[in-house]
Amino acid sequence: MKLSKEVDELIAADNPVIPYIEGDGIGKEITPFVKKIIDAAVEKSYGNKRKIEWIEVLAGEKAFNEIGTWLPDETIEAFRVNKIGIKGPLTTPVGEGIRSLNVALRQELDLYVCLRPVRWFKGVVTPLLHPEKVSVTIFRENTEDIYAGIEWAAGTAEAKKFLSFLKNEMGVNKIRFPESSSFGVKPVSREGTERLVRASIEYAIKNRLPSVTLVHKGNIMKFTEGGFKKWGYDLAEREFPDQTFTEHRFNQIKLEKGLNKAVEMYNEAVSTGKVFIKDVIADAFLQNTLLKPEEYSVIATLNLNGDYISDQLAAMVGGIGISPGANINYLTGHAIFEATHGTAPDIVGKNVANPCSMLLSGVMMLEHLGWSESGKLITSSLEKLFENGYGTPDLARFMENGKPLSTSEFSNKVIENL
Ligand code: NAD
Repeated sequence: MKLSKEVDELIAADNPVIPYIEGDGIGKEITPFVKKIIDAAVEKSYGNKRKIEWIEVLAGEKAFNEIGTWLPDETIEAFRVNKIGIKGPLTTPVGEGIRSLNVALRQELDLYVCLRPVRWFKGVVTPLLHPEKVSVTIFRENTEDIYAGIEWAAGTAEAKKFLSFLKNEMGVNKIRFPESSSFGVKPVSREGTERLVRASIEYAIKNRLPSVTLVHKGNIMKFTEGGFKKWGYDLAEREFPDQTFTEHRFNQIKLEKGLNKAVEMYNEAVSTGKVFIKDVIADAFLQNTLLKPEEYSVIATLNLNGDYISDQLAAMVGGIGISPGANINYLTGHAIFEATHGTAPDIVGKNVANPCSMLLSGVMMLEHLGWSESGKLITSSLEKLFENGYGTPDLARFMENGKPLSTSEFSNKVIENL
């Protein structure tokens, strides 16, 4: 990855300062254990040579209660200066004009990749017969698409103005119920697409993964989703000609020189370790993930598709409550690793919350720091525990011979098995 010089220095540091947000609700119960497990794994891997200097930064209810603001500037500044941080789940404040804290952090630091690795842990019960075939890493674009929040409610003066612009200046006359329509705008840019797709291809190359699939609805939205596909292929062919082979190129060769030649070129590319860049329409992709999940490795997709895809794939490995995530800017190196679930108000204070989503996000953070030995220790400890039926109640109750443990018991067992 092309990270900035400061991030290289941070990664090289043995005592990086890492800001963390404890989080609301069950955040208070899982975050202390996540830090404890990470510290134990780092100590086991590197002795006294490496240690994280944790600093707590405030956000959410804790910030509001202590200093009267949901997301203090100091918190954003701490992430900006220290580059890498981790967060527990945050309550989304309810009320007009208050932004989601997660969205605010992503926007402030321009964290354009939402990275979600999805894998199955042996022992975890899932709806699939062969969950072991699922191993994908999703690169979801985090800053564009209809998530830009440009929309106007039906009947408002803004909606009327927009309608009049569409009719009178753009000649649009195919809106079925114009007067009672709300409108939204879906910006998708070449720059936004390129930085996302570039990060996904670099990830595939670095991790020696076989393919990157561009998932889109370009058959319907030709210039936004279709643009994503076109710009993605163009980028791969322009910037990674020696490390990738594209389906787009395959089809060109097929047209010009016939199928046999195209297959020959494809086989040669695969045998020399090139990453195959392909694309699929989003609806077909969702079917295919159930029918032939082994065909997918790295996924690059737009914001809304990525939202649906992340949850479906996580559910397929039974990991909706344990799937990790990170929001990353690969150009500046800013990254916030986070629990992907919410604050779980229904189980707060019961010592039953599953710490694994945040913990596995911590593993991603260790990998980002280049401390993968510690990350591997944690992952293999979890593998051992799940395989033997240990888990917090949300997982253990579905396991054959499951042994439900409290948050603290489970976390201590993770440490014992490092
Ligand atoms: P939720 O994820 O908090 O809970 C959904 C269900 O999953 C609940 O039954 C809960 O008990 C269970 N669950 C979630 N995490 C769990 C864990 N670690 N261990 C065991 N069970 C777990 O979703 P919600 O109830 O829709 O949202 C509650 C609050 O969290 C809202 O304020 C919402 O805005 C916020 N939220 C924050 C984030 C985030 O910070 N990334 C994400 C989603 C929701």
